Amino acid sequence: LDPNSLLLNVKFEVEEWAKTQMKEIERLKELEKYRKDFVGNVSHELKTPIFNIQGYVLTLLEGGLDDPKINKLYLKRTEKSIDRMVSIVEDLESITKLESGELKLNITRFDIVKTVEEVLEMEHWQATESKISVQIVNKPDRPIYVKADKKRILEVVTNLIVNGIKYGKKKGNVNISFYDLEDNIIVEVADDGIGIEKKDLPRIFERFYRVDKSRSREQGGTGLGLSIVKHIIEAHNQSINVRSVLDKGTTFNFTLEKAK
Ligand code: ADP
Repeated sequence: LDPNSLLLNVKFEVEEWAKTQMKEIERLKELEKYRKDFVGNVSHELKTPIFNIQGYVLTLLEGGLDDPKINKLYLKRTEKSIDRMVSIVEDLESITKLESGELKLNITRFDIVKTVEEVLEMEHWQATESKISVQIVNKPDRPIYVKADKKRILEVVTNLIVNGIKYGKKKGNVNISFYDLEDNIIVEVADDGIGIEKKDLPRIFERFYRVDKSRSREQGGTGLGLSIVKHIIEAHNQSINVRSVLDKGTTFNFTLEKAK
């Protein structure tokens, strides 16, 4: 046995072992950063409504209660802050389930056109305030059956439409189209709103990423909607895409598997 080659062998093995250890350390570091970011973001998001409620309650306790007008106003504001916390917590629950792969899809066969119409009926009130019209522009004259989790797809469509309204311009449009392909269907949600700059586009599906934080918060956004949407579509083994022109508008489209 050549001692030199033996030594070389040992050296090689040690080096390989060190490399895997380094990789594992990197992975753990990344996980730790991810956890820290997540906790940091969550507490940051919850702080605002909590501090607001604290302020409202204090105002009421320090005399506001005696004035019925102030009373009502501050209770209304408290209610709004509580609603905000509820939506943050609900979004957090969804994202945690989706990211850990805990979410089990409940796949059924349903008509996607009818489902989108259901969303439009539910969300109608949202659009009236900003006078944005939401409509299906090429309504197919027959049902299009897909295989998917209906509740989750409702969530996806609702999120995209609500975003189109939130980041839309007054009297703008949110247009929904269907493209019927052989095995798939493409659902497109297009707005003529504020648009997204090229540099921000790749990041909008990240958790908590928001182009304009104050605009998003003002509109009740949590920065989690699109990341939930992407997870849901990917859990279906389908894809979602976005294109946007600043100041002109944004178009999202996602695919679904057609049911035979
Ligand atoms: P949010 O709760 O802030 O709306 P989302 O995850 O739904 O969070 O979206 C992330 C960010 O992407 C938003 O804060 C906004 O800056 C941008 N965005 C999403 N949809 C649109 C749209 N239709 N038009 C312009 N910007 C959008």
